[in-house]
Amino acid sequence: MAIAELLPLHDLIAKCNRCGFCQAGCPVYRVTGEEHSLSRGRMAIARGLMLGALDLTPDVMGALDDCLLCRGCTAHCFPALKTDDVVTTIRHAYITRHGQPVWQRILFRTILSDSKKIELAGRMALWAKRHGLASMAEKTGLLSLLDKRLAVANRVVPPMTRTPFLRGAHAQVPAPAQVKHRVGYFVSCGLSFQFPEVVEATLRVLARNGCAVTVLENTCCGRPAYSYGDLDAARDIARKNVDRLAPAVGMDAIVSECGSCSAHLKEYGQLLQGDSAHAKKAVALSKKVQSFSEFLAGIGASEGLGTLTGTVTYHDPCHMSNRFSKVTAQPRKLLKSVPGMTYKELPEADWCCGAAGSYTFLHHQEATGVLDRKMGNVETTGADILATECPACMMHLSYGVRRKGLPVQVRHVSEILDQAYAASDNAP
Ligand code: SF4
Ligand code: SF4
Repeated sequence: MAIAELLPLHDLIAKCNRCGFCQAGCPVYRVTGEEHSLSRGRMAIARGLMLGALDLTPDVMGALDDCLLCRGCTAHCFPALKTDDVVTTIRHAYITRHGQPVWQRILFRTILSDSKKIELAGRMALWAKRHGLASMAEKTGLLSLLDKRLAVANRVVPPMTRTPFLRGAHAQVPAPAQVKHRVGYFVSCGLSFQFPEVVEATLRVLARNGCAVTVLENTCCGRPAYSYGDLDAARDIARKNVDRLAPAVGMDAIVSECGSCSAHLKEYGQLLQGDSAHAKKAVALSKKVQSFSEFLAGIGASEGLGTLTGTVTYHDPCHMSNRFSKVTAQPRKLLKSVPGMTYKELPEADWCCGAAGSYTFLHHQEATGVLDRKMGNVETTGADILATECPACMMHLSYGVRRKGLPVQVRHVSEILDQAYAASDNAP
């Protein structure tokens, strides 16, 4: 039976002329060499589903499902077809017909839509990781027995050694010497749990630049639910954030140092356009959102930086690349402004690193192939610092560095700026 959900995308799907130029930009196709991994193959499957020539079976979904949603293909495609929109629509159609795994339903509809539950789940995961339960379970084979993806996740997620950034502990949000900007800080699930040191660095850098920061009572941005095709959960989460963050729209900016959160928040207007109660408020919210580098470069944060040493290169998170929110010049400008540090451009800097949210847990072989290509490029720069602006990228790039034994530190842009300000304070 034809998939009705694809009909609004008919014109887009019909524009695929099968030229194959998308081969040049698809990280997954470069690893698998399979036609179904390529946008051309995915468009052919979508056409079959749209016209009823194919049924949406688990096998057909499996063939489509190794897409990173990175739009690498779109950048090489003359009609600029958005393969990610087509794949997400098909994922949505699939779970509408076949249901979704229980873990996804609980995660997207119960946990990620409630900031308190996110913090509770994060604390439990952290406790298990810190007490070596996950490693023990992996060593004894229990994790693989439960689910191979859990064993992979335990290897890829870096050791958690720091206390997570929790909203209750906000007495320590640093205050600026002189208030120049009023900023709402959007808390990223990934950074607050995996990389709380990045959150702390971000807040210090914002304060250093005259920002009075209000930590927002946001929930997850909804990007994970959206990527898995659970569009109902993604819209529900977006509505909650639009309501909760309404007071922040009066501030100068809503800032997130997670490239995926900021890019997704910027799309709330589009996501909720059919929702009469939220559409206008969503547009207003989206307009106020800026990624960390975008905001900092905009207010001229390069003053007062102290001297650092070393060579830094920069990996563009997909969602900040020119294929999504187009924040590419600002992080480079900030890194280049640090005195004493050499900047080297990374070949294929905007190619996906293979993290793509939880892709690496689900398609580990393909993700590792994509990551190895990225690590090869990092090695050619000779850099000892690999900067980026997304927790999933930081996690996966750190895994790549560990796998290859490279003498490279993976750092968020905010950590580098924070270090440079500290160097200035400590200079004789
Ligand atoms: S580049 Fe675009 S038009 Fe050409 S085959 Fe790929 S998806 Fe189709
Ligand atoms: S979105 Fe990325 S992974 Fe998916 S087909 Fe396009 S280039 Fe390949």
